[in-house]
Amino acid sequence: MRLILLGPPGAGKGTQAKFLMEKYNIPQLSTGDILREAIAAKTPTGLAAKEIMDRGDLVSDDIVNAIISERLDDEDCKNGFILDGFPRTIAQAQSLEEMLKEKQMPLDAVIEIRADENILVERILNRAKESGGARADDNEEVIRKRLKVYKELTMPLVKFYQDLGLLKSVDGTKNIAGVRSEINDILES
Ligand code: AMP
Repeated sequence: MRLILLGPPGAGKGTQAKFLMEKYNIPQLSTGDILREAIAAKTPTGLAAKEIMDRGDLVSDDIVNAIISERLDDEDCKNGFILDGFPRTIAQAQSLEEMLKEKQMPLDAVIEIRADENILVERILNRAKESGGARADDNEEVIRKRLKVYKELTMPLVKFYQDLGLLKSVDGTKNIAGVRSEINDILES
């Protein structure tokens, strides 16, 4: 199963990815997690990305394209994968199309998790409280910025994947179990 989870910050992509990982025994490829690991390890990529991430902007397409292209070659991606937080721009989606063609890994579906802005801000602020402020970009000002970036740069992917016949949308304002069952119904049908 090869999937993309598309949706704004706080929509629940990470949470749903965890369920799908177990169900299909495939890895979750989160560019955000990989970049945070690079920051923690103080690699050159991490050092370049930190400031950009802290202010809620997107790191360059080249950096994330390279991260994903390498990661897709790992053995554990042979049965499939869940992309979480990638692609985030039309240029990334085009690069991904090329990569997947070359690697002969066609996508099965792109699942868009929808939710409105106020719910998202509230959820991310709660996440920040629960995690004791582990993420530097989980404060209200940066969250609003991340949502704006999502609308401007990532929302166009909805049409991109609609045109490819891959898009399925679910209602991300439902509770975790509700969203999970909507996704399961889509993937099983
Ligand atoms: P996330 O954990 O997916 O919310 O990502 C956190 C931050 O990492 C984003 O606000 C971006 O700064 C950066 N990031 C993650 N994925 C990407 C991507 N595909 N393209 C550009 N920047 C990304």
